[in-house]
Amino acid sequence: MDSHQDKYAAFVEHPRFGRGPHFTGLKPDLLQVTFHWHSPKSCRIPGTAITADLTRQTAATLAVTHYFDAERTCEDCGRPFIFFAQEQKHWYEELGFGLDSNCVRCVPCRKRQQGISRLRERYEELFHVPARTVAENFEFADCCLTLVEQGVFHKRQTERVRMLLNRVRDDRHDDVKYKELATRLQVIENQTGQYGDAQIV
Ligand SMILES: [Zn+2]
Repeated sequence: MDSHQDKYAAFVEHPRFGRGPHFTGLKPDLLQVTFHWHSPKSCRIPGTAITADLTRQTAATLAVTHYFDAERTCEDCGRPFIFFAQEQKHWYEELGFGLDSNCVRCVPCRKRQQGISRLRERYEELFHVPARTVAENFEFADCCLTLVEQGVFHKRQTERVRMLLNRVRDDRHDDVKYKELATRLQVIENQTGQYGDAQIV
């Protein structure tokens, strides 16, 4: 294993591109090209350039002529990862992201973040349902508990779940979902201080 592989062995793996750089051998003439300002020389990995299609980028003062694999440190978990040149091309040419959008989280943290956003949306949606069914109440409680477990909601939010579970009829107490929710709630209620810094909503 060479030093390159050693270095990138510690990087977070991308499900599509792996964890190490993709060397293309392309050496653009540095006088003719503009690179992404989010990827200064210090984080660009030499030898990984791919050409950009300027007609597909959203208008910017300075277009980007080449993408390079670029090293990043995840804002959430602090682990190193690569924002791959192919990924950049996909973002800026296929998905229509502006060149000002930067990749600051590794894939697992991005997925987690997206999961949290979806959960919050679902929680809000269920919150406003006037007469929730039992299944909807369980889902609502599940969203709330997960958001507390993830440190997004303050522990105080579980008071709503407690009230909700207290109102569940006795004949539903053998329900697998009820038992699971009650157990998770108990775990949170038994913890102290751990969520003190989480956001209150
Ligand atoms: Zn991360």
